[in-house]
Amino acid sequence: MRLLITGGAGFIGSNFVQYAARAYPKYEIVNVDLLTYAGNLDNLAEVEKLPAYRFVRADIGDRGKLEPLFQEGFDVVVNFAAESHVDRSIAQPDLFVRTNVLGTQTLLELSKQYGVKRFVQVSTDEVYGTLGDEGLFTEETPLAPNSPYSASKAGADLLVRAYSETYGLPVNITRCSNNYGPYQFPEKLIPLMIGRALSDKPLPVYGDGLNVRDWLYVEDHCRAIDLVIHYGRNGEIYNVGGNNERTNLHVVRTILKELGKPESLISFVSDRPGHDRRYAIDASKIRRELGWTPQYPYEIGIKETIQWYLRNEEWLRRIETGEYRRDG
Ligand code: NAD
Repeated sequence: MRLLITGGAGFIGSNFVQYAARAYPKYEIVNVDLLTYAGNLDNLAEVEKLPAYRFVRADIGDRGKLEPLFQEGFDVVVNFAAESHVDRSIAQPDLFVRTNVLGTQTLLELSKQYGVKRFVQVSTDEVYGTLGDEGLFTEETPLAPNSPYSASKAGADLLVRAYSETYGLPVNITRCSNNYGPYQFPEKLIPLMIGRALSDKPLPVYGDGLNVRDWLYVEDHCRAIDLVIHYGRNGEIYNVGGNNERTNLHVVRTILKELGKPESLISFVSDRPGHDRRYAIDASKIRRELGWTPQYPYEIGIKETIQWYLRNEEWLRRIETGEYRRDG
């Protein structure tokens, strides 16, 4: 099996590359990543030397650079590459359209042209918009994205569908809730708060802190993608989520407690424009059809994650100083 992983130097992508290299040592893995600020080759130190693994620095929208790779032939393409931070999408929506929409379309086109057997688009529950106090997102929930980030991901999802319907490209889309775990770039809630708490800096919490997210340990997401690659039904969308709804404030308090830091570090700041109130996933389809169940209860996963960042302060430090940026 030859796998093309895009965005494999980012948070989830690098966890997936490590997971796949462990689970399938005979698979050939090509990792294409542009190494934006979010791409970090430090994440891949353990797989870098494996003969079945190769890294190529490229933009997923750069057809000229990608075509020779596709000519080598891939069985499966898993597209993790994206601009992924909602706040950045509010400041720079054009970049999100370029990478998330046009980049995905370039990959779809090359996959069609060179006979890729399965294209897996790693999407997000944010494409469904926001929920009130009740209810869950199912795969049938209408798309109602509220941020430029989620709108660009929804646009990509629709192109994936169109390539399946129009050209018969075999595809799947996964829509996952918020991930947490090792190697997450410290602009996202959990590593940001851990880093700031460790330096006794104020922890900025948006609005009243009561926005709810459904948290999933990244390895559980990797296992879901593994199942979709091998057993997903052609053309299907699979929601992935952990049934772990927590308010942002709850998450931040857990981090402070675990690190023995005072709650007085919490600093409420003006809310993000268009901030979705609640996300929650109905993951019964992937459980029923592919037998996926999350293995990390939130209370255990969050503690392990905090411990990982404590053990890997050097990883965080290299990001803070910019040393992690290398020419790939
Ligand atoms: P990330 O920001 O940590 O990593 C993104 C990676 O993509 C980086 O390595 C970056 O260098 C690379 N990249 C960006 N633009 C590129 C381009 N034009 N060409 C090639 N590479 C490029 O993101 P993440 O949190 O690991 O998310 C990965 C995927 O999963 C994204 O598609 C995201 O929408 C989706 N997702 C994330 C979450 C989450 O909680 N983090 C939840 C659901 C879905």
